Amino acid sequence: MSQRIECSRRTCRWTGTESQLEEVYATNGLYNCVCPKCGCKSYYQLPEPKTNKRVKNANELIKVISEHGRKFFEHKGVIATLELDKRGRVWLVDEYSKARVYTHYSGKWSGFHHGGTLRDLVCAMRDYITNGTLIPLDWIAPTRCNPENGDIWGYGKEAAAAVRAAAAQLPIIKQGEQA
Ligand SMILES: [Zn+2]
Repeated sequence: MSQRIECSRRTCRWTGTESQLEEVYATNGLYNCVCPKCGCKSYYQLPEPKTNKRVKNANELIKVISEHGRKFFEHKGVIATLELDKRGRVWLVDEYSKARVYTHYSGKWSGFHHGGTLRDLVCAMRDYITNGTLIPLDWIAPTRCNPENGDIWGYGKEAAAAVRAAAAQLPIIKQGEQA
């Protein structure tokens, strides 16, 4: 497997592998090994992502969300993933920017290309990974006060119901709640 790397610019944190870098150069004809996102010339080698049962459960929820409606967390076949560092801190690799986002940071998440609602959901997944706190089902494609007005995600009635039904089966979701 190709060495994982991360752009050393803190505001960029493009994450990929050395062979992906080489692919970029093969297609755009650049010779220098620079970050494909910001052009920065230096990068760090990253260890393989650490995972555990809860990280896998959280990534399963991301996958379910990415398979319905507007396919949040999916971009051109790439799905966002959560991972741990060696201190047990939770990072999200953004599907669009390929940035590794530190989910414990309370300021602006550089490289995270979703809004506040999905950021809150990522924080809930982070808390599940660190503390085991389950996520209520009504966090998934949440409806406004009047369900007739549709869901906040804009998934639409059918897809919202489908993503909730699929999510309800997952161990990360608080059981005993109605879809
Ligand atoms: Zn960069």
